[in-house]
Amino acid sequence: MFSALSAPLTYALKPIAVTDGMWMLAGAPQPITFENGGAIANITILDSSEGAIIIDTGPSRRFGEELATLARSLTGKDIARVYITHFHPDHAFGNQAFVAESIAAPQGVIDGLRDAGAAFSDAMYYIARDWMRGTDIVLPKHAVTSGVEEIGGRRLHLFALAGHTSSDLVILDETSGTLIAGDLAFLDRAPTTPHANLSVWQQSLTTLGDLDFKMLVPGHGPVEADKRALTQTHEWLAAIADIIQRSYERGLDMLETARQPLPPSLEKIALSRYEFERSVMHLYPKLEAERLPEVGKKIE
Ligand SMILES: [Zn+2]
Repeated sequence: MFSALSAPLTYALKPIAVTDGMWMLAGAPQPITFENGGAIANITILDSSEGAIIIDTGPSRRFGEELATLARSLTGKDIARVYITHFHPDHAFGNQAFVAESIAAPQGVIDGLRDAGAAFSDAMYYIARDWMRGTDIVLPKHAVTSGVEEIGGRRLHLFALAGHTSSDLVILDETSGTLIAGDLAFLDRAPTTPHANLSVWQQSLTTLGDLDFKMLVPGHGPVEADKRALTQTHEWLAAIADIIQRSYERGLDMLETARQPLPPSLEKIALSRYEFERSVMHLYPKLEAERLPEVGKKIE
């Protein structure tokens, strides 16, 4: 008899067909845990005449390897291109399974992964343990900026934006009219904000809202044929900024702020309390630092 602990770990990836020649691997609507092996982000696979195009590589070497195998079998071709939407480990730690020269990202994503990768890696090994075995950080070697790229008959419009992190890549597959929004859009799963700039994020949401697309793949949450992921993410960010600011102004401390209710429509989103409390823990001190008088500046 094998115990669960001695069984080989496998992600058993299950592709969901989004549209012709496009699949998504749906991330678990959970925080990163040992049980999910860090597979919490959505991953997209596109077919093209030159080969598979993959957007984000998942949380570990093992995930990347399973993803590469799956993409080859779905498309019957090798991997033509990989894009990384941002430097978070659940999106970029499967890079090792791919040729670094084929991995593309804005320079800001590459820099972020270089600077924060080791700290992320420690955290991931601590939580996901055996799933991470043999995982090293591989930096994308192909820097991209906003503009159109044509790969194997697909027209991909790249948008180098920011807000969820200091550099967020969004890809509009013009061929199918699908917007792959990375973590600038969450749906029915509360947004994470540890590296966010909320006002820049809101500007990026406005930019995305003006685009013409038929379907949206959020970084976390289900694919939908409308802009609900953009409006819900906007509402979430506006609500948490407002609650934190008003609580601070009423003299509530950080823990009291973290206990404030969310609007009912947002309270019911998966992980709403968990992410709100995490957001308060880093956004409240930031606000406090901005509002405190700068001691010493006035003495002249
Ligand atoms: Zn993220």
